Amino acid sequence: MTVAPALAAVAAPRAPAAPTDVTPDEAARILMKSALFAPPPATLPDGRRDLVGLSRAELEAEMLAMGEKPFRARQLWHWIYHQGERDFAKMPTIARPLQQRLAERFAIGRPETSTEQLSKDGTRKWLFRFRDAQQVETVYIPDREEDRGAVCISTQVGCTLSCRFCHTGTQKLVRNLGAAEIVGQFMAARDTYSEWPSPKDGTPRHLSNIVVMGMGEPLYNYENVAKALTIVMDNEGIGLSRRRITLSTSGVVPMMDRCGAELNVGLAVSLHAVTDELRDVIVPLNRKYPIADLMAACRRYPNASNARRITFEYIMLDGVNDSEAEARELVRLLKGLPAKVNLIPFNPWPGSEYRTSKPEAIRRFAEILSAAGYASPIRRPRGRDILAACGQLKTESERVRRPAA
Ligand code: SAH
Ligand code: SF4
Repeated sequence: MTVAPALAAVAAPRAPAAPTDVTPDEAARILMKSALFAPPPATLPDGRRDLVGLSRAELEAEMLAMGEKPFRARQLWHWIYHQGERDFAKMPTIARPLQQRLAERFAIGRPETSTEQLSKDGTRKWLFRFRDAQQVETVYIPDREEDRGAVCISTQVGCTLSCRFCHTGTQKLVRNLGAAEIVGQFMAARDTYSEWPSPKDGTPRHLSNIVVMGMGEPLYNYENVAKALTIVMDNEGIGLSRRRITLSTSGVVPMMDRCGAELNVGLAVSLHAVTDELRDVIVPLNRKYPIADLMAACRRYPNASNARRITFEYIMLDGVNDSEAEARELVRLLKGLPAKVNLIPFNPWPGSEYRTSKPEAIRRFAEILSAAGYASPIRRPRGRDILAACGQLKTESERVRRPAA
């Protein structure tokens, strides 16, 4: 373990840092930077364009460009996202000649499945490959008791951040995923479970929820993530409600307001430490957006009602962040905020430097939180045997050379 023991103790809270610059400029800077890692164009080698990932307006524009009426876009939207159909010839509401013209110009894509593994606990992991051969992992975590579960989707190949306990963090950011690649992970997972068409009557499916908690930091790829989630939430398509979607961030404060205002999906925040001294080390992004600023952004998040509590993720690292004093400090930080704390026992990966907290330490930590009125479930590790648990995802990739900005 390379974290100095002194850091493991709860240091006196640091004087509040100067408020981070949460100006539109700061958000614009993040968006500009993320554009440098843009995905390749959504065109197949044969020149056809992938319709998956286009917004409704973009799909309409494509129809108009073909001399078709706007309602065609609506029909296609239904076939693509409600029925999950990939073959234009199997869309009986569209006349044969138009089916043929569509098939000449367009495709309805999916990421290619490189490998698929099933854990003994029912968790399934896919390694998906995109047209430029880059790959990400996607995981389905079934609920043990009920016929439902969450698909954990990735948003970047690698990650720019390097949280000390995270396997993905050891992989440099190669590029952002495009909207098609993000929504495509969920669509391909649905293909595997034959869960098309989308339920109209709200009947739950096995793949009932989405957690944006796979590889990468979603708020460093905000525009593609927002576009993908808007498609997923569209009522005439996949129709997953925002209540069934949770986005996890390591704390990109300037983008949290926008995420709340535009998407208002469930928010999970990877807190993991209660002092800036420790968080600076294990979640280095904290040096930019310290705890006080992060908590302020959480308090601004819309609808932080009891039904829509913010989830705080707290990884349990033996002897590093798992003392009773830290649990009490966490209660103090959360005061007045409708919150729930997910205690995540650290999942080891090859070369990781930490150990999982002792069960007794986790239990005591949880007790202090629940005595203060915070739900504090201890997350059961899922899919560890196939390296599919939180923080274990990683793919082999080389960083492609980028032109200078
Ligand atoms: N980048 C985002 C979302 C992906 S990580 C974020 O950091 O929030 C999803 C969750 O897994 C985060 O809470 C992350 O801190 C946690 N995690 C990372 N490595 C882990 C590990 N080795 N064991 C358990 N949880 C881990
Ligand atoms: Fe990136 Fe999240 Fe892993 Fe940190 S925990 S390195 S932000 S994927």
